[in-house]
Amino acid sequence: MKQAPRIPVAVLGATGAVGQAFIRHLHDHPWFVITEVAASERSAGRRYAEAARWLEGSLDQAVADLTVLPCTPDAVSAPIVFSALDSGVAGDVEAAFARAGRLVLSNAKNFRMEDDVPLVIPEVNGDHLQLLPAQQRIRAWSGAIITNANCAATVIASALAPLHEAYTVRTVMAVTMQAISGAGYPGVPSLDILGNVIPYIGDEESKIETELGKLLGRRVDDRIEFAQFAVSAHANRVAVEHGHTVCLSVGFANAPSVQDALRTLRSWTGYAGVAGLPSAPVPPLIVRDEQDRPQPRRDAPMGGGMATTIGRVREDAILDLRLVAMSHNVIRGAAGGSVLNAELMVSSGAVDRETGALRLTS
Ligand code: NAP
Repeated sequence: MKQAPRIPVAVLGATGAVGQAFIRHLHDHPWFVITEVAASERSAGRRYAEAARWLEGSLDQAVADLTVLPCTPDAVSAPIVFSALDSGVAGDVEAAFARAGRLVLSNAKNFRMEDDVPLVIPEVNGDHLQLLPAQQRIRAWSGAIITNANCAATVIASALAPLHEAYTVRTVMAVTMQAISGAGYPGVPSLDILGNVIPYIGDEESKIETELGKLLGRRVDDRIEFAQFAVSAHANRVAVEHGHTVCLSVGFANAPSVQDALRTLRSWTGYAGVAGLPSAPVPPLIVRDEQDRPQPRRDAPMGGGMATTIGRVREDAILDLRLVAMSHNVIRGAAGGSVLNAELMVSSGAVDRETGALRLTS
């Protein structure tokens, strides 16, 4: 049987930690092929292998030989653009690409909370992609922007989604232990983090507190009705390479027993459109019974880095339940999450499987 050609895609911010994760995740992808990489003017014009300090695994030879382009829609031609840009530049650059007709899958905070921009974890709220025709109308863009969530908010929303659907979350207390790779490369100085815990990550607590309501919200026509619950977050940076761990205490409108909560988490498959997509982990949530799991070193790679591992589900002395959730911040919380969003766009027919062109219909 003749195989459909792969859709050419570009990675913006390709030299950074998330950019490199895109290159690893898209290696031999059945639908997408990286044809262009772009980064700052420090890197533009150089061979990728020389411009990037490659951090992990082997570098695809075809990508190694690409010349790094500047991040402009004139220089980059791919119809689908994965953006791993620093938030300092992502806003203007991503908007320029969307205006020029490209589908932009962003990892930056800039557009996440805009009313007409989907903030999507496919299993949790894949239907929020249906905001896109309104986004094109409102902004007069021929392209579009889809964002994925903050990496710690991704862990929490994935763990809470089935529980919120079944029992209605009312209160969330979240304490994070976030990996160093979440700060990009070179990130946190080694003398600050080795043998240490830093009880502050700029902007992180407010991102968690605001993004959760949108992620677990309900789409009503062209807008998202935010989930109404209170969130209090403490964000900590810990000396772990990959994997954000979050301790959660949760109060519900209809509190489940521990056994009911476990059954709900174990049986959850998420938004139906995600089934069978190349990057979708099966199951999306791995629920462990051992007292000492999840652990980032052992569980972050599960499901190719796309699964969320949950453990220690038990009664809470103040709220109803407590649990620990963990996932890979650079894969599930960034590059892999973006690729899954793009796969959902292709499988739903919103992106042409042959050319990568956007075909949104309201
Ligand atoms: P990073 O390692 O610092 O990489 C930043 C990238 O942006 C590099 O490729 C850099 O290119 C490029 N860049 C910087 N200034 C630029 C400019 N003026 N014009 C064009 N390109 C420019 O950061 P990261 O950790 O990969 O994070 C990338 C984005 O993903 C951020 O918005 C971050 O908040 C988000 N995110 C990160 C994680 C994570 O776990 N790391 C998780 C979720 C979301 P040069 O090499 O040429 O300077």
